[in-house]
Amino acid sequence: MNYQSTRDAKKIGYSAAQVIKQGLADDGGLFVPDSIPEITKADIDALAKQDYIHRAADIMSRFLTDYTYEELLEDCSNAYSETSFPGGAAPLVPVCDNLYSLELWHGPTAAFKDMALQLMPRLLVRALRKTGEERTALILVATSGDTGKAALEGYRDVDGVKIMVFYPVDGVSRVQKLQMATQEGNNVNVCAIEGNFDDAQTGVKKIFSDREFAEKLNEKGVFLSSANSINLGRLAPQIVYYVSAYCDLINAGKLKNGETFNVCVPTGNFGNIFAAYIAKLMGLPIGKLICASNVNNILTDFLKTGTYDRNRKFHLTMSPSMDILISSNLERLLYFVAGSENTAKYMKELSDNGCYAVSAEEKAEIDKNFVGYYADEKATAECIKEDFLKYGYLHDTHTAVAFCAAKDYVKDTGDTAPMVIDSTASPYKFAADVYESLSGEKPSEALAALDELSSKTNTEIPYPLRGIADRKVNFTKVVKVCEMPDSVLEYISK
Ligand SMILES: *Cc1c(COP(=O)(O)O)cnc(C)c1O
Repeated sequence: MNYQSTRDAKKIGYSAAQVIKQGLADDGGLFVPDSIPEITKADIDALAKQDYIHRAADIMSRFLTDYTYEELLEDCSNAYSETSFPGGAAPLVPVCDNLYSLELWHGPTAAFKDMALQLMPRLLVRALRKTGEERTALILVATSGDTGKAALEGYRDVDGVKIMVFYPVDGVSRVQKLQMATQEGNNVNVCAIEGNFDDAQTGVKKIFSDREFAEKLNEKGVFLSSANSINLGRLAPQIVYYVSAYCDLINAGKLKNGETFNVCVPTGNFGNIFAAYIAKLMGLPIGKLICASNVNNILTDFLKTGTYDRNRKFHLTMSPSMDILISSNLERLLYFVAGSENTAKYMKELSDNGCYAVSAEEKAEIDKNFVGYYADEKATAECIKEDFLKYGYLHDTHTAVAFCAAKDYVKDTGDTAPMVIDSTASPYKFAADVYESLSGEKPSEALAALDELSSKTNTEIPYPLRGIADRKVNFTKVVKVCEMPDSVLEYISK
C-alpha cells in the first residue's frame, strides 16, 4: 500500500516508512492511503480470540505494508505491555443502557494520546532504518498539555531520537506542568516559554521552516521531525481500538458478528474520530459516528450546515484538549468525500478567508456517516455528577462531553444500538474541574484535588499521577519565544 497527499492524488505514492518519517506532504497536504484494506466477518472472528497486542499488530500490518507482521508484533508488545498499560490497553466498560466507555487512558500519562504515542516512536525508529537515515531525529513539540507529556514518555530513551517540548509557562494546568517538569529519560528536554500556546506553536513552526537552521542541525548530524496528530504514525494505531471494542462487544454477548454499533468521540483535531471512519471504510459495522464538541462547536456547525467557518470566538473550557478552531485531520475526510482537487481548493479558502463550504452532494456523503453534537460547560458538569450518582461511573471532562452528545443522539433518534464512547482521559488528569462538577465546591488547591477527588468518590488515582507532587523536578528553564532556536541548539550540542 502507498500513501498520497490529500491535495494531489496524482503524484506517485510514498511508503509508510517515508510517510512516518516525513509527517506532512511537500504540498502541505496530509498523507492518506491509496486504498483501504478490507476487514471481513471471518477476520473479526479470528481477532475476537486475540488480545489487544495481537489485534493491533494485525490491523497495523494491513496499513504499514513495508513493515513485517513480526516487527509490528514486537513493537505493539512493547508499546502496550502490562508495565505501560496495567490491566490491558483499551478496556470497554458498560456504563448504562447500551452506552459503553472505551477507556483509552490506562497508559503512562493517563490520557488517550498514549495509545498512539507509545507505538509511534518505535515505528519511527524502524522508518529511519528502512529509509537509510543515519542522522538523529529531533522531535520538536509545542504543547498545550497532553501531547507534550505523552510524546516525552513515548520517546524517552529511544535510540537515534531526541525530543524537546515547549509549553506556555502559564498555559497548562499544575498537574500537566509537573508531569512534564519531572520527566525522566536520557534524550528528553522540556522548556517553558513566555507566552501562550499560540506563541509556542508559532515558535516551533518557525524553527521547522528555517532552512538555515536546518543546515546548522544537519552539520551536527540532526534533522527535525514532529509528533503531531497529522502523522500517520499517530493515526494508524487509533484504528485498532475500534476493531478491538467491536470484538469485545461480541465476546461479551452484546451483539453478534455483523450487527451494527455506533461510536461517539470527544473531538478536537478530528484524528481519533477519523480513525473510526477508516475502520468503518474497512468494513467494521459502525452505524453512525457521533462527533462530540464543547462550546467550541465549529465541527457541530460544519456537520449541520456544510460550512466550516473559523471566524468565531474562541472559548477556554474545562475540556481544553478540545478547545480548537482548526481541526487539521478534517482535511482527510474532505479528501475521501470530495477528492484531492476540491480538498486543495477548500484548504486554500480556509487559509485565505478562514471559511469554506462543501457541495450538497459532499455534505450528503458526510451525513451518511457523521452527526455532530455539542455540550456546554453546564451540561458537561451535570453529566459528570449525574453519571457518578446514578451509575457510579466517574468521567473526565472530555469524556463527559461525549456522554452528553451520545445521550442527546439517542434521545433524538431512538437509535439504541450499542454505543462505544471514547473515554480520552483519566478524571484525575482534570481533577479540580471534576471535583467541582461533583460537589459544587472548589478543591482546596489544584494538586490537593487528586486526593480530595479520591476520597470523595472512593476511586483510585491512576499510577502515572500518584505521588506526583513529591517527584524530582528536572526542568525549570523558561525562555522568550525569540530564544527558542538557541535553546534547541544548546540542547543538541550537549
Ligand atoms: C487530544 C484529546 C482529544 C481530542 O482528540 P482528537 O484526536 O484531536 O480529536 C480529546 N480528549 C483528550 C483528553 C485529548 O487529550
